[in-house]
Amino acid sequence: MKLVIVFSGGMDSTTLLYQLRAGGHELKALSFNYGQRHAVELEHAQRIAEQAGVPYECVELGALAGVIAGQSSQLNREVAVPEGHYTEESMKATVVPNRNMIMLSVAVAHAIALEFDAVAYGAHAGDHAIYPDCRLDFVEAMRSVISLCDWRKIELLTPYVDKNKSEICRLGAELQVPFALTWSCYKGGHAHCGRCGTCVERKEAFELAGVRDPTEYLDSEA
Ligand SMILES: [Zn+2]
Repeated sequence: MKLVIVFSGGMDSTTLLYQLRAGGHELKALSFNYGQRHAVELEHAQRIAEQAGVPYECVELGALAGVIAGQSSQLNREVAVPEGHYTEESMKATVVPNRNMIMLSVAVAHAIALEFDAVAYGAHAGDHAIYPDCRLDFVEAMRSVISLCDWRKIELLTPYVDKNKSEICRLGAELQVPFALTWSCYKGGHAHCGRCGTCVERKEAFELAGVRDPTEYLDSEA
């Protein structure tokens, strides 16, 4: 199969990239610069794709931030990135309005242009509580509409929608994913902060999976 993968350079999409590559699929990795605070993830994404030998492209959508920032901590520099457990209500501040529909929409258009068969993204079960566009209902609705975006049917692959992050971590370890190259922290910067929701989620995933965490956290006690 020929697939466009929505690729952020995080643990989930990197594991997905390695899994699909191992499955013998032809891949194109697509990242998005939408003015995110944690734009450092894009450097990680590019490095991982290069190392994996997967063609990579970053789509510049920086102008979007001006019209969608609202009170999102990831776009509005006046809103602090919340710290604590990733399931807390406060983490809703990290939601980027309708991000998955925007990225999927562009990825599907790219797949049509390349005459590819499908788009894959790494939505997982742990995201459902906080991110409305990771809910099962959202994924299924997108699957339907994506099948109608072209005269040729484009498929949507979401193999992690029923998996939690520690299961994905374990799978990634089996696939020898270079986790040290992946980026999760929503604060950006040069090292993982260890305190924001995505850092806490990352640490917890490694612990629960029983996989060694190669990440250096600025605050390892958090
Ligand atoms: Zn962090």
